[in-house]
Amino acid sequence: MPLSPHHLHRSVDPRLQTARIFILGAGGLGAPLAWFLARAGIGHLVIADSDRVERSNLPRQILHVTARVGAPKAESARLTLQRIHPATRVTPIPARITATNILQAVAGCDLAVDGSDNYSARHRLNRACLNCRIPLVSGAVSGFEGQVATFHHGVDPEAPCYHCLYPETNANDTSETDPTTCATAGVLGPVAGVIAALLAAEVVKTVLNRPAPHDTGSLRLINLRNSLDLRIAIPKDPACPVCARPPILPNPPT
Ligand SMILES: [Zn+2]
Repeated sequence: MPLSPHHLHRSVDPRLQTARIFILGAGGLGAPLAWFLARAGIGHLVIADSDRVERSNLPRQILHVTARVGAPKAESARLTLQRIHPATRVTPIPARITATNILQAVAGCDLAVDGSDNYSARHRLNRACLNCRIPLVSGAVSGFEGQVATFHHGVDPEAPCYHCLYPETNANDTSETDPTTCATAGVLGPVAGVIAALLAAEVVKTVLNRPAPHDTGSLRLINLRNSLDLRIAIPKDPACPVCARPPILPNPPT
């Protein structure tokens, strides 16, 4: 008997079924991440990517296929995800996410995932998560190395944000390309897959509200060449221009 979308999701937690997740980037991280999230039963994925599929993407960007070289990545992602898991709704945004349109793109989502490859986009999404009061799951890959962090600054005023970890400087503010990520440093497909799986686990854990005690304010660093896996604390920057709370003024002299 063929299975309906209802049957496919019969054992999925309803919080996953009703979750709406924004994914910035349908490339090295975003493609396998979206694949895992659809398989996990996430109900709605909003996927933003302004790039088109290139032949060189295919070894690691597992949502795209040879026949779609030249097609918008966001739309290619939707086509593959609808085929493998029709119960997951996919909204593609095949446009560049700018300071002007990001709030509209993220609005209504329960959580955002950063799988982009440039500093400007990362900082833009960090701010949008604060404005929209949602958590941010952030990933990066370079060679054999990867990073994963979940930022709760949108929902917890005590939590640090991406800017606390990587302050926006003139150098990285004006450069679109993050030198530590795939655009310039090269990414191995299996490394992107591992980091994407960890990002998916962070998303599921956050949607199900099952954080570990160290989750707020820590960065996980993984190096698959030397089997390194460590976690470092991210202190909240009391002067962070994004997430610092308004300063507490001293009592006026009496
Ligand atoms: Zn901050």
